[in-house]
Amino acid sequence: MKIKPASILAALFLISLFALTLQRGGSNAVEIVTYAQVAATNQNPEAMADAASIRAHMEFLASDALGGRGSGTRDELIAATYIASELRRYGIAPAGDANDYLQKAPARRRRQRDANATPAEQAFTYNVVGRLQGSDAQLSKEAILLSAHLDHLGTGEAVNGDNIYNGADDDASGVCAVLELARVLGTSKPKRTVIFALFGSEETGGAGNAYFLENSPVTLASFVANLEFEMIGRPDKSVATHTLWLTGYERSNLGPELARQGARLVADPHPEQNFFQRSDNYALARRGVIAHTVSSFGLHAEYHQPSDDIAHIDFAHMTDAIGSMFKPVLWLVNSNFKPQWVAGKQP
Ligand SMILES: [Zn+2]
Repeated sequence: MKIKPASILAALFLISLFALTLQRGGSNAVEIVTYAQVAATNQNPEAMADAASIRAHMEFLASDALGGRGSGTRDELIAATYIASELRRYGIAPAGDANDYLQKAPARRRRQRDANATPAEQAFTYNVVGRLQGSDAQLSKEAILLSAHLDHLGTGEAVNGDNIYNGADDDASGVCAVLELARVLGTSKPKRTVIFALFGSEETGGAGNAYFLENSPVTLASFVANLEFEMIGRPDKSVATHTLWLTGYERSNLGPELARQGARLVADPHPEQNFFQRSDNYALARRGVIAHTVSSFGLHAEYHQPSDDIAHIDFAHMTDAIGSMFKPVLWLVNSNFKPQWVAGKQP
Protein backbone atom coordinates (compact mmCIF):
# COMPACT_ATOMS: atom_id res chain seq x y z
CA MET A 1 0.00 0.00 0.00
CA LYS A 2 1.40 3.36 -0.99
CA ILE A 3 2.16 6.01 1.54
CA LYS A 4 -0.09 8.96 2.46
CA PRO A 5 1.04 12.57 2.84
CA ALA A 6 3.00 13.30 6.03
CA SER A 7 0.28 15.21 7.86
CA ILE A 8 -2.14 12.37 7.50
CA LEU A 9 0.55 9.90 8.47
CA ALA A 10 1.07 11.85 11.69
CA ALA A 11 -2.62 11.62 12.46
CA LEU A 12 -2.55 7.97 11.54
CA PHE A 13 0.31 7.44 13.96
CA LEU A 14 -1.59 9.07 16.81
CA ILE A 15 -4.60 6.91 16.10
CA SER A 16 -2.43 3.85 15.80
CA LEU A 17 -0.98 4.40 19.28
CA PHE A 18 -4.27 3.07 20.48
CA ALA A 19 -4.27 0.15 18.14
CA LEU A 20 -4.30 -3.25 19.70
CA THR A 21 -1.15 -5.08 18.72
CA LEU A 22 -1.62 -8.30 20.60
CA GLN A 23 -2.61 -10.88 18.11
CA ARG A 24 -4.47 -14.10 18.40
CA GLY A 25 -2.12 -17.05 18.36
CA GLY A 26 -2.71 -20.61 17.48
CA SER A 27 -2.92 -22.46 14.24
CA ASN A 28 -5.85 -24.15 12.62
CA ALA A 29 -5.03 -27.30 10.78
CA VAL A 30 -7.02 -27.54 7.59
CA GLU A 31 -6.72 -29.89 4.69
CA ILE A 32 -5.85 -28.88 1.17
CA VAL A 33 -8.87 -29.02 -1.08
CA THR A 34 -9.26 -28.86 -4.82
CA TYR A 35 -11.66 -26.97 -7.03
CA ALA A 36 -13.81 -30.06 -7.44
CA GLN A 37 -14.18 -30.36 -3.70
CA VAL A 38 -15.00 -26.69 -3.30
CA ALA A 39 -17.68 -26.96 -5.97
CA ALA A 40 -19.11 -30.16 -4.58
CA THR A 41 -19.45 -29.24 -0.95
CA ASN A 42 -21.12 -26.64 1.19
CA GLN A 43 -18.45 -26.59 3.83
CA ASN A 44 -17.48 -23.26 5.34
CA PRO A 45 -15.13 -21.31 3.09
CA GLU A 46 -12.68 -20.76 5.95
CA ALA A 47 -12.02 -24.50 5.99
CA MET A 48 -10.67 -24.40 2.47
CA ALA A 49 -7.46 -22.36 2.45
CA ASP A 50 -4.32 -24.28 3.27
CA ALA A 51 -2.96 -22.86 6.49
CA ALA A 52 0.41 -24.59 6.12
CA SER A 53 0.95 -23.23 2.60
CA ILE A 54 0.05 -19.73 3.74
CA ARG A 55 2.41 -19.94 6.68
CA ALA A 56 5.20 -21.30 4.48
CA HIS A 57 4.84 -18.47 1.94
CA MET A 58 4.80 -15.89 4.70
CA GLU A 59 7.80 -17.34 6.51
CA PHE A 60 9.84 -17.06 3.33
CA LEU A 61 8.55 -13.82 1.79
CA ALA A 62 8.54 -11.86 5.04
CA SER A 63 11.74 -13.38 6.39
CA ASP A 64 14.78 -11.31 7.35
CA ALA A 65 16.60 -13.35 4.68
CA LEU A 66 14.62 -11.52 2.00
CA GLY A 67 15.62 -8.16 3.46
CA GLY A 68 12.24 -6.52 3.10
CA ARG A 69 11.89 -7.16 -0.68
CA GLY A 70 13.00 -3.64 -1.52
CA SER A 71 11.56 -2.31 -4.79
CA GLY A 72 14.00 -2.92 -7.63
CA THR A 73 16.48 -4.91 -5.56
CA ARG A 74 17.89 -8.41 -5.75
CA ASP A 75 15.73 -9.29 -2.77
CA GLU A 76 12.66 -8.40 -4.82
CA LEU A 77 13.95 -10.63 -7.63
CA ILE A 78 14.38 -13.53 -5.20
CA ALA A 79 10.79 -13.06 -4.00
CA ALA A 80 9.62 -12.98 -7.61
CA THR A 81 11.54 -16.16 -8.41
CA TYR A 82 9.96 -17.97 -5.46
CA ILE A 83 6.46 -16.89 -6.52
CA ALA A 84 7.12 -18.02 -10.09
CA SER A 85 8.22 -21.43 -8.83
CA GLU A 86 5.00 -21.77 -6.88
CA LEU A 87 2.89 -20.87 -9.93
CA ARG A 88 4.73 -23.58 -11.88
CA ARG A 89 3.84 -26.09 -9.20
CA TYR A 90 0.15 -25.17 -9.44
CA GLY A 91 -0.06 -25.71 -13.19
CA ILE A 92 -0.23 -22.01 -14.05
CA ALA A 93 1.52 -21.27 -17.37
CA PRO A 94 4.23 -18.59 -17.66
CA ALA A 95 2.95 -15.34 -19.18
CA GLY A 96 5.81 -12.91 -18.62
CA ASP A 97 8.72 -12.06 -20.92
CA ALA A 98 9.94 -14.72 -23.37
CA ASN A 99 8.10 -17.77 -22.07
CA ASP A 100 9.13 -17.00 -18.50
CA TYR A 101 7.01 -15.96 -15.53
CA LEU A 102 9.06 -12.84 -14.90
CA GLN A 103 8.64 -9.46 -16.49
CA LYS A 104 11.71 -7.27 -16.18
CA ALA A 105 10.83 -3.60 -16.09
CA PRO A 106 12.94 -0.45 -15.71
CA ALA A 107 12.57 0.98 -12.22
CA ARG A 108 13.93 3.58 -9.91
CA ARG A 109 15.62 2.71 -6.68
CA ARG A 110 14.48 4.60 -3.60
CA ARG A 111 15.95 8.06 -3.44
CA GLN A 112 19.35 8.11 -1.74
CA ARG A 113 19.17 9.94 1.57
CA ASP A 114 22.80 11.08 1.18
CA ALA A 115 22.95 13.95 -1.30
CA ASN A 116 26.60 13.14 -2.04
CA ALA A 117 25.90 9.54 -2.92
CA THR A 118 26.72 8.52 -6.45
CA PRO A 119 23.59 8.17 -8.57
CA ALA A 120 22.16 4.68 -8.48
CA GLU A 121 22.74 2.66 -11.62
CA GLN A 122 19.74 1.67 -13.73
CA ALA A 123 17.58 -0.59 -11.61
CA PHE A 124 15.04 -3.13 -12.72
CA THR A 125 11.93 -4.34 -11.05
CA TYR A 126 10.28 -7.71 -11.55
CA ASN A 127 6.69 -8.74 -11.99
CA VAL A 128 5.52 -12.34 -11.96
CA VAL A 129 2.80 -13.13 -14.48
CA GLY A 130 1.01 -16.43 -14.99
CA ARG A 131 -1.90 -17.53 -17.11
CA LEU A 132 -4.60 -20.15 -16.77
CA GLN A 133 -6.26 -20.40 -20.16
CA GLY A 134 -10.04 -20.40 -20.13
CA SER A 135 -11.82 -23.54 -21.26
CA ASP A 136 -14.96 -22.03 -22.80
CA ALA A 137 -14.86 -21.07 -26.48
CA GLN A 138 -16.44 -17.66 -25.84
CA LEU A 139 -15.74 -16.88 -22.18
CA SER A 140 -12.04 -17.72 -22.55
CA LYS A 141 -11.69 -14.47 -24.51
CA GLU A 142 -12.44 -12.68 -21.25
CA ALA A 143 -9.93 -12.55 -18.43
CA ILE A 144 -10.01 -12.09 -14.67
CA LEU A 145 -6.87 -10.53 -13.17
CA LEU A 146 -5.87 -11.59 -9.66
CA SER A 147 -3.00 -9.50 -8.31
CA ALA A 148 -0.92 -8.28 -5.39
CA HIS A 149 2.40 -6.51 -5.04
CA LEU A 150 5.49 -8.46 -4.14
CA ASP A 151 7.84 -5.64 -3.10
CA HIS A 152 8.12 -3.75 0.16
CA LEU A 153 10.43 -1.12 1.62
CA GLY A 154 13.65 -3.17 1.95
CA THR A 155 16.00 -2.02 4.68
CA GLY A 156 16.11 1.43 6.19
CA GLU A 157 16.26 3.39 9.39
CA ALA A 158 16.39 1.09 12.39
CA VAL A 159 13.50 1.16 14.84
CA ASN A 160 14.13 -0.59 18.14
CA GLY A 161 17.26 -2.13 16.62
CA ASP A 162 15.46 -3.59 13.59
CA ASN A 163 16.20 -2.16 10.14
CA ILE A 164 14.42 -4.76 7.99
CA TYR A 165 11.01 -3.66 6.77
CA ASN A 166 9.65 -7.19 6.29
CA GLY A 167 6.31 -6.24 4.82
CA ALA A 168 4.46 -9.26 6.17
CA ASP A 169 1.04 -7.65 5.98
CA ASP A 170 2.10 -5.21 3.22
CA ASP A 171 1.96 -7.16 1.01
CA ALA A 172 3.25 -10.70 1.52
CA SER A 173 -0.28 -11.41 2.78
CA GLY A 174 -1.80 -10.38 -0.56
CA VAL A 175 0.73 -12.49 -2.45
CA CYS A 176 -0.41 -15.48 -0.38
CA ALA A 177 -4.01 -14.84 -1.40
CA VAL A 178 -3.08 -14.86 -5.09
CA LEU A 179 -0.95 -18.00 -4.66
CA GLU A 180 -3.72 -19.82 -2.83
CA LEU A 181 -6.23 -18.83 -5.53
CA ALA A 182 -3.72 -20.05 -8.14
CA ARG A 183 -3.38 -23.35 -6.32
CA VAL A 184 -7.12 -23.94 -6.18
CA LEU A 185 -7.89 -22.62 -9.67
CA GLY A 186 -4.99 -24.61 -11.10
CA THR A 187 -6.87 -27.80 -10.30
CA SER A 188 -9.93 -26.56 -12.23
CA LYS A 189 -10.79 -25.64 -15.79
CA PRO A 190 -12.28 -22.18 -15.44
CA LYS A 191 -14.34 -20.93 -18.35
CA ARG A 192 -12.70 -17.54 -18.34
CA THR A 193 -8.96 -17.01 -18.67
CA VAL A 194 -7.29 -16.11 -15.38
CA ILE A 195 -4.17 -13.95 -15.24
CA PHE A 196 -2.13 -13.95 -12.03
CA ALA A 197 0.10 -10.91 -11.62
CA LEU A 198 2.43 -10.05 -8.76
CA PHE A 199 3.80 -6.56 -9.25
CA GLY A 200 7.22 -5.18 -8.35
CA SER A 201 7.91 -1.63 -7.23
CA GLU A 202 4.41 -0.78 -6.05
CA GLU A 203 5.89 1.03 -3.06
CA THR A 204 7.99 3.35 -5.24
CA GLY A 205 5.21 4.40 -7.56
CA GLY A 206 4.06 1.38 -9.54
CA ALA A 207 6.81 0.83 -12.13
CA GLY A 208 6.02 -2.89 -12.30
CA ASN A 209 2.35 -2.26 -12.80
CA ALA A 210 3.04 0.40 -15.46
CA TYR A 211 5.14 -2.13 -17.39
CA PHE A 212 2.40 -4.74 -17.07
CA LEU A 213 -0.14 -2.34 -18.55
CA GLU A 214 1.99 -2.12 -21.70
CA ASN A 215 2.98 -5.80 -21.78
CA SER A 216 -0.09 -7.64 -20.56
CA PRO A 217 -0.47 -11.20 -21.92
CA VAL A 218 -4.04 -10.29 -22.91
CA THR A 219 -5.41 -6.96 -24.07
CA LEU A 220 -6.56 -4.65 -21.29
CA ALA A 221 -9.99 -4.62 -22.94
CA SER A 222 -10.34 -8.35 -22.29
CA PHE A 223 -10.03 -7.91 -18.52
CA VAL A 224 -13.51 -8.20 -17.09
CA ALA A 225 -12.33 -7.50 -13.55
CA ASN A 226 -9.23 -7.11 -11.40
CA LEU A 227 -9.09 -8.03 -7.74
CA GLU A 228 -5.93 -6.77 -6.04
CA PHE A 229 -5.18 -8.21 -2.59
CA GLU A 230 -3.51 -5.87 -0.10
CA MET A 231 -2.89 -6.23 3.61
CA ILE A 232 -5.19 -9.04 4.66
CA GLY A 233 -2.85 -10.40 7.36
CA ARG A 234 -4.77 -8.91 10.26
CA PRO A 235 -8.43 -8.21 10.89
CA ASP A 236 -9.84 -4.69 10.71
CA LYS A 237 -11.81 -3.96 13.87
CA SER A 238 -13.82 -1.35 11.94
CA VAL A 239 -15.78 -4.14 10.27
CA ALA A 240 -17.43 -7.32 11.53
CA THR A 241 -15.23 -10.33 12.19
CA HIS A 242 -14.66 -12.66 9.24
CA THR A 243 -15.16 -9.68 6.94
CA LEU A 244 -12.98 -8.03 4.31
CA TRP A 245 -13.54 -4.73 2.59
CA LEU A 246 -13.27 -3.63 -1.00
CA THR A 247 -11.87 -0.27 -2.03
CA GLY A 248 -14.17 1.76 -4.25
CA TYR A 249 -17.05 -0.61 -3.39
CA GLU A 250 -19.62 1.97 -4.48
CA ARG A 251 -17.91 2.61 -7.82
CA SER A 252 -18.99 -0.58 -9.58
CA ASN A 253 -21.39 -3.49 -9.11
CA LEU A 254 -18.54 -6.00 -8.68
CA GLY A 255 -18.38 -5.87 -4.87
CA PRO A 256 -22.13 -6.12 -4.32
CA GLU A 257 -22.35 -9.02 -6.78
CA LEU A 258 -19.43 -10.89 -5.17
CA ALA A 259 -21.16 -10.37 -1.82
CA ARG A 260 -24.34 -11.84 -3.30
CA GLN A 261 -22.25 -14.85 -4.28
CA GLY A 262 -21.11 -15.32 -0.69
CA ALA A 263 -18.06 -13.08 -0.41
CA ARG A 264 -17.85 -11.53 3.04
CA LEU A 265 -17.03 -8.19 1.46
CA VAL A 266 -18.21 -4.77 2.59
CA ALA A 267 -17.43 -1.18 1.65
CA ASP A 268 -14.08 0.27 2.72
CA PRO A 269 -14.67 1.74 6.20
CA HIS A 270 -11.81 4.25 5.80
CA PRO A 271 -12.88 6.36 2.79
CA GLU A 272 -10.79 9.29 4.05
CA GLN A 273 -7.67 7.21 3.36
CA ASN A 274 -8.33 7.07 -0.38
CA PHE A 275 -7.23 3.42 -0.50
CA PHE A 276 -8.89 2.95 -3.89
CA GLN A 277 -6.14 5.16 -5.29
CA ARG A 278 -3.30 3.75 -3.22
CA SER A 279 -2.70 0.38 -4.78
CA ASP A 280 -1.97 -1.06 -8.20
CA ASN A 281 -5.67 -1.53 -8.97
CA TYR A 282 -5.93 2.22 -9.57
CA ALA A 283 -3.77 2.38 -12.70
CA LEU A 284 -5.91 -0.41 -14.19
CA ALA A 285 -9.11 1.37 -13.20
CA ARG A 286 -7.81 4.50 -14.92
CA ARG A 287 -7.48 2.41 -18.06
CA GLY A 288 -11.09 1.28 -17.80
CA VAL A 289 -10.68 -2.09 -16.07
CA ILE A 290 -13.12 -2.70 -13.20
CA ALA A 291 -10.35 -2.92 -10.61
CA HIS A 292 -10.63 -2.93 -6.84
CA THR A 293 -8.50 -3.89 -3.85
CA VAL A 294 -9.56 -6.45 -1.25
CA SER A 295 -8.15 -5.64 2.19
CA SER A 296 -8.59 -5.81 5.95
CA PHE A 297 -6.04 -3.15 6.86
CA GLY A 298 -7.17 -1.67 10.16
CA LEU A 299 -4.67 1.24 10.17
CA HIS A 300 -2.37 -0.65 12.52
CA ALA A 301 0.77 0.84 14.03
CA GLU A 302 3.08 -1.54 12.15
CA TYR A 303 2.22 -0.05 8.74
CA HIS A 304 5.51 0.67 6.92
CA GLN A 305 7.52 -0.16 10.03
CA PRO A 306 10.18 -2.87 10.58
CA SER A 307 7.62 -4.43 12.93
CA ASP A 308 5.29 -5.36 10.04
CA ASP A 309 6.59 -8.87 10.49
CA ILE A 310 5.41 -12.45 10.99
CA ALA A 311 4.94 -11.92 14.72
CA HIS A 312 2.12 -9.47 14.02
CA ILE A 313 0.28 -11.64 11.53
CA ASP A 314 -3.00 -13.23 12.59
CA PHE A 315 -2.76 -16.47 10.66
CA ALA A 316 -6.22 -17.66 11.67
CA HIS A 317 -7.71 -14.48 10.23
CA MET A 318 -5.57 -14.67 7.12
CA THR A 319 -6.47 -18.27 6.37
CA ASP A 320 -10.13 -17.50 6.93
CA ALA A 321 -9.95 -14.36 4.76
CA ILE A 322 -8.30 -16.13 1.84
CA GLY A 323 -10.62 -19.12 2.07
CA SER A 324 -13.64 -16.82 2.10
CA MET A 325 -12.72 -15.58 -1.40
CA PHE A 326 -12.48 -19.02 -3.03
CA LYS A 327 -16.14 -19.55 -3.82
CA PRO A 328 -16.87 -16.02 -5.04
CA VAL A 329 -13.75 -16.03 -7.25
CA LEU A 330 -14.57 -19.51 -8.57
CA TRP A 331 -18.00 -18.17 -9.43
CA LEU A 332 -16.52 -15.10 -11.16
CA VAL A 333 -14.13 -17.07 -13.36
CA ASN A 334 -16.94 -19.38 -14.48
CA SER A 335 -19.78 -16.90 -14.92
CA ASN A 336 -20.71 -14.57 -17.76
CA PHE A 337 -21.33 -11.69 -15.32
CA LYS A 338 -19.60 -8.55 -16.56
CA PRO A 339 -19.29 -5.90 -13.87
CA GLN A 340 -20.00 -2.29 -14.80
CA TRP A 341 -18.99 1.06 -13.37
CA VAL A 342 -21.68 2.96 -11.56
CA ALA A 343 -22.52 6.02 -13.68
CA GLY A 344 -20.11 8.83 -12.88
CA LYS A 345 -17.93 6.69 -10.59
CA GLN A 346 -15.32 5.51 -13.08
CA PRO A 347 -11.99 7.14 -12.19
ZN1 LIG B 1 2.93 -0.30 1.51
